[in-house]
Amino acid sequence: MDRDYQELLNEFGSPLYVYEEEVIRKNYERFKSAFQVENLKIFYACKALSNQNILSLFKSYGASLDCVSIEEVELGIRAGFSPQEILFTPNCISEEEYERAIAFGVRINVDNLPALEYLGMKYPGIRLWIRINPHLMAGGNRKISVGHIDSKFGISIHQLPHLKRLVQSLGIEVEGIHTHTGSDIIDPEIFIRAAELIFGVVREFESVRYIDFGSGFKVPYRPEDTETQLEEFGKKFGDAFNEFCTSQGKEYTLCFEPGKFLVSNSGSFLTKVNIIKQTTSCVFIGVDSGFNHFIRPMFYDAHHELSNISNPGGEKKVYNVVGYICETDTFASDRFISEVKKGDVLRFSNAGAYCFSMASNYNSRLRPAEVLILNGEARLIRKRETLENLLENQVILEL
Ligand SMILES: *Cc1c(COP(=O)(O)O)cnc(C)c1O
Repeated sequence: MDRDYQELLNEFGSPLYVYEEEVIRKNYERFKSAFQVENLKIFYACKALSNQNILSLFKSYGASLDCVSIEEVELGIRAGFSPQEILFTPNCISEEEYERAIAFGVRINVDNLPALEYLGMKYPGIRLWIRINPHLMAGGNRKISVGHIDSKFGISIHQLPHLKRLVQSLGIEVEGIHTHTGSDIIDPEIFIRAAELIFGVVREFESVRYIDFGSGFKVPYRPEDTETQLEEFGKKFGDAFNEFCTSQGKEYTLCFEPGKFLVSNSGSFLTKVNIIKQTTSCVFIGVDSGFNHFIRPMFYDAHHELSNISNPGGEKKVYNVVGYICETDTFASDRFISEVKKGDVLRFSNAGAYCFSMASNYNSRLRPAEVLILNGEARLIRKRETLENLLENQVILEL
C-alpha cells in the first residue's frame, strides 16, 4: 500500500487526501449490524466529510443524513437524499434558516424554546424533533459528559414542564426526541444512562416515533487507544431499547448520527517533506502543508499516526513535523518514524473525519485534492484549488 500512496501522490500531486470506499462501507455495515432492533435509522453526520461523492455513497448504502446547516441540507438534496431522509439539527440559527429548511421539507430538530415557539406559532400543527440536553455526567469523570449544565446545546431536561406546555398549547407534533453528546465517549454506559432519561421524556409525548441518540462514538487514534466496543454496546443498548418499546407497547425507531466512526479511518493525508531542519534541540521536518489543510492536531491536540511511506523499513529516528504556515503549526512532536529525507512523503492516518471539511485558505494557500479508492481504482473527487478559486468572489475595485 505504501507504494500505492506514492503513486497516488505522483499522479494527483501533494498534499492529498485519500479515502477508501471499502473501509467506509465496512464501518457502515458494522455499525448497522451492531443494533438488533426492529427499526433502525442511521443518519450519517455529513459535517465529518462532506464531499458529494461521499454523500452519494451513504445514500447508496441506505443511510439517511444528519445536517447541521442549511448548506449541508442543500448538499444532501443534490446528492440524491429525499427531504424526509434528511434530519436538520442546527443550533443558534436564524428564523430565516428554519424557513428555508421548511421549504425543503426536511425533518427539523429544534434545539431551543424560542425557535419552538416561533415555528409552532407560524405553522400550526408542525411536526418537529426536539433536542434534549439531559445534563448527564459520567460517574465522577468530568470529561465524559452528555452535556454540561452550561452547554449551549439542546433544551434542558429541567425545562420539560415548560416544553410540554408549549407543545400542547401550540399543537406541535413531536415526532422525534433527540440527544447528542458531542464528545468522544469512552464508556458506552453513559449512553445507557442517557437513554433512561430520554425514555422518560419520550413517555411525555404520545406522538413520538423516533428516538435519536446522536453520536460520540470514539475511534482509536493512537495504537493504544480504546475504541467504542460497538458490538457489546449495541447488544446492551438494543436490549434496553427493545425493553422500552415493549413496556410502551409501541414500535419506536432507534436513530444514531455517527460521523467520525464511519469515515475517520478511511482517510489518509499525504504530504511531502520540503526541508529538514536540525536545531540545537531537535529535528524539524517541514512539510508542504499546515493547519490550513489539516487542523485537528493543532485545534484539538489530536494525535494522528504518522509514517514515512517513502522509506517504510528505514531506521527509526525522532522528529517534530511542522507545517509551512506563518504560525506555530505542529502536526506531531517527538515521533519515531523511518529516517526522513527531503522529498519523502509522509502519511497521516485517520484523516477522513473533520480534516478536509475543516480545511481553509489561510495564508492564501490552495486546498488539496481529494481521491476516492473505489473498486480498487483511484478516482479524483475534488480537484486541487487554483488561484482563480481564491479570487472568484473578490470584487476588484479600481484603486
Ligand atoms: C457532530 C455531530 C454528530 C457526529 O458526531 P461524531 O462524533 O462525528 O460521530 C452527530 N450529531 C450531531 C447533532 C452533531 O452535531
